[in-house]
Amino acid sequence: MAAPVLAPGATIGILGGGQLGRMTAQAASRLGYRCHVFATEPDSPAGQVCGAATVADFSDLAALDRFAAAVDVVTFEFENIPADAVRFVGVSKLVLPRAEILEITQDRLREKDFLHSIDVATAAYREVSDVAALARAMRDFGYPAVLKSVRMGYDGKGQMTLNPETKPEEAWRHMGAEIGVLESFVDFACEISVIVARGRNGAWATYPPVENQHTAHILDTTIAPARIAAETAMRAEAIARHIAEKLDLVGVLAVEMFVTQAGDVLVNELAPRPHNSGHWTIDACVTSQFEQLVRAVCGLPLGSVAHHSDAVMKNLIGRDVEKWRDALSDPFAKLHLYGKTEIQPGRKMGHVTRLIPHR
Ligand code: AMP
Repeated sequence: MAAPVLAPGATIGILGGGQLGRMTAQAASRLGYRCHVFATEPDSPAGQVCGAATVADFSDLAALDRFAAAVDVVTFEFENIPADAVRFVGVSKLVLPRAEILEITQDRLREKDFLHSIDVATAAYREVSDVAALARAMRDFGYPAVLKSVRMGYDGKGQMTLNPETKPEEAWRHMGAEIGVLESFVDFACEISVIVARGRNGAWATYPPVENQHTAHILDTTIAPARIAAETAMRAEAIARHIAEKLDLVGVLAVEMFVTQAGDVLVNELAPRPHNSGHWTIDACVTSQFEQLVRAVCGLPLGSVAHHSDAVMKNLIGRDVEKWRDALSDPFAKLHLYGKTEIQPGRKMGHVTRLIPHR
């Protein structure tokens, strides 16, 4: 039986208390929905703006049960939420996107195998399960190459670029996981991402590709739209739509891609949730990525992805946040702070989107 449409006034459960949950709750609140966050720490960025919060560990089944009983639909804001917790909540409540999508994207090998099964190109890769296998793969792939942990990898965690001088034992130790994936290094012209939204009725919308610049593996700046050929942009959007349809996604999905020097598009990573590279949509588009997620999970029609401004989004990482006043002196800059009190190096504290309005 098809799930009923959830009208405003219903409660959306959000697994994860970070800034993506915060901005989802802000979009939901504007549409008249309530949000209940499940977070592992009190006073989380999402918890600060949700009417209700459950603070517990993801292994606490009684807490998950209470959370599920208090909400009408469940989504998640972080792809490393333990899959068992999501499955458990899914027994009593509709979870969107589906738990299986989360399981595919939590595992780099499953994700890449899935992409290949639907004819989507990635960098060459190989599973490596011990040092000897890594040494063989390093010889076969040549240099540079990239070793990544299969699980819990984001913002460059568990990742290392290998050169001819790199000792396989050291690389293995640095990765610190039981299984890794060795990838050939892509000499990319630029990195882009496409965010695709898909509703319960299969309707879809893709935002234009944006260009992502990383510092120390963490997203630093997003330029929207990406400065790429129109034909490349169309191809990237078509790839994102194809993946969303094959996953039977309901929600939003970010597809991170490399554009090679030859103009080919290779998919690097999937995230079945709002994405840092989509923050510009809050201020520059008719409908933000967060509102699309709310609309999709509640069974509402998607909104327009048209943008009235181009934009440059800059993350405020670590102590960058101390310069928040600078953003306010620029009338075209929109400041977003996530309510995190403790500054740590590499921690995303907020972002600033500078708008370049279309005339
Ligand atoms: P990931 O954790 O897979 O999202 O990787 C983080 C960042 O590392 C990417 O955004 C790229 O800048 C870089 N990177 C990852 N994989 C590769 C690769 N195979 N070739 C070149 N750069 C890579």
